[in-house]
Amino acid sequence: MTARILVVDDIPANVKLLEARLLAEYFDVLTADNGYAALDLCEKTHVDVILLDVMMPGIDGFEVCERLKANSRTSHIPVVMVTALDQPSDRVRGLKAGADDFLTKPVNDLQLISRVKSLVRLKTLTDELRIRTEAARNMGVEDMLRTGDGRIDEIAQVLLVDGRANSQERIIKALKPVAAVTASSDPQAALFEAAENAFDLVIVNANFDDYDPLRLCSQLRSLERTRFIPILLVTDSGDEPMIIRALDLGVNDYLVRPIDPNELVARTLTQIRRKRYNDRLRTSVRESIELAVTDGLTGLHNRRYLDSHLKVLFNRAQARGRPLSICITDIDRFKQVNDTYGHDAGDDVIREFATRIRSTVRGADLACRYGGEEFVVVMPDTAADAAALIAERLRGMIEHRPFALKADGSFLDVTASMGIATLTPGTDTPEQLLKQADRALYQAKSAGRNRVVAAAA
Ligand code: GH3
Ligand code: MG
Ligand code: MG
Repeated sequence: MTARILVVDDIPANVKLLEARLLAEYFDVLTADNGYAALDLCEKTHVDVILLDVMMPGIDGFEVCERLKANSRTSHIPVVMVTALDQPSDRVRGLKAGADDFLTKPVNDLQLISRVKSLVRLKTLTDELRIRTEAARNMGVEDMLRTGDGRIDEIAQVLLVDGRANSQERIIKALKPVAAVTASSDPQAALFEAAENAFDLVIVNANFDDYDPLRLCSQLRSLERTRFIPILLVTDSGDEPMIIRALDLGVNDYLVRPIDPNELVARTLTQIRRKRYNDRLRTSVRESIELAVTDGLTGLHNRRYLDSHLKVLFNRAQARGRPLSICITDIDRFKQVNDTYGHDAGDDVIREFATRIRSTVRGADLACRYGGEEFVVVMPDTAADAAALIAERLRGMIEHRPFALKADGSFLDVTASMGIATLTPGTDTPEQLLKQADRALYQAKSAGRNRVVAAAA
């Protein structure tokens, strides 16, 4: 993991010390001796994590942090405040400024390295998502991400796993203004709870008599459904080995007992903010992928999706020796619809046609708009006779119910022709299968339209 760490401190000896430790772990290190230089570097170059001294002449660490977090170009860079003052109020002030963590001078070696590593890991994930979102920028995704950035509109859901009733009560009370807390004293039950509900944060209090809390943390990190939920661990002061192992496991943050309620609130909010930011990125990535494979007019999958997915279904059917059928359907004399009623009326018909296809096919079937007024339905596990029945049912659904035109509320009779083909030992490629179905469709057209023709086996 080569990551670039920026060390900011006005005292050269402090810079040298941190630099040496980070270099020994093969990090790439940049340095700055004042806040302005640090802001400048972050704007101009790539920085993965910032170690930021609090007390500096000129602008202090709090202000540097605030400015970094207010700038969309630098707001995603994790900031670790390095402070000689171990006052809870300073921590809270730093966290409010958007700091992701604290280190107290003199800086403990192991803590420094494990902290930086864990933040780099988190940053790598965020970066990957940001890169994937770049492509979606034109679609207003950036604006969507900015809205609500830093704000928490929805009440956050926190799962608290804590072995003691009285400490549960204290934590619930402290978090009351910012989160709804579900408490559990049974780690295994909590794991299920976390997998089944959408939590924004899991707080694990390491106060169990006969249970290793890191076991739960590691399970949360390995389950598909929980691996993106941030974890905040509460430990005893002095239990450094546990903290280091926890951070290595991917625990996002920790608090040391006795819990300062302000710090608890601030750290909780930081984790939730980060989680929501990453959630938004993930959603937008998913949405842009969906847009690329969806037909805008009908909401069905498009040809691009069919081309890639048919291959998968085809290979699977072949490998398992299962049947697979496809149906190509084309609306009859559709050009006349456009010519007589206009293009918008034509669009109404295409949309309604898609709705009827969607209502006929089963969940496992794949329905796509293949182009213009042509559609393809791929039916896994469906032999020729069953495919013929399904196609015939669809044909009837088109013929027997007139299509409404939005503009004038009038109705239009529509028919469609269909060609079906079924995978046989002689079919080598998905393209061949499509071609067979297409030929059958052509036969249906030439035989008078409004009918189903199956390709000869
Ligand atoms: P056939 O029975 O032989 O299929 O006759 P047809 O008129 O349906 O055949 P053809 O393929 O010649 O015409 C299809 C028409 O569909 C031509 C095109 O203008 C129209 N079309 C294609 N895509 C769209 C669309 O998205 N909206 C509308 N309104 N019309 C479309
Ligand atoms: Mg047509
Ligand atoms: Mg056509």
